[in-house]
Amino acid sequence: MKVFVDEDKCCGAGSCVLSALEVFDQRDEDGVVVLLDAEPAEHLHAAVHEAVQVCPAAAITVA
Ligand code: SF4
Repeated sequence: MKVFVDEDKCCGAGSCVLSALEVFDQRDEDGVVVLLDAEPAEHLHAAVHEAVQVCPAAAITVA
């Protein structure tokens, strides 16, 4: 799995961080998403898919 984030779309809602703490963080200044792990291990895949679904800005994609 490869994870991509579009910082321009991100509205800083933070839902992705709640879904997958190991993969996503937020910038202190403006809350914009920070991708911690672009190729997360398999046990994190379900959490990443959840993050994709809960992101209100559709800023996260996986391949
Ligand atoms: S859930 Fe989406 S909009 Fe919210 S911080 Fe994460 S990437 Fe940005």
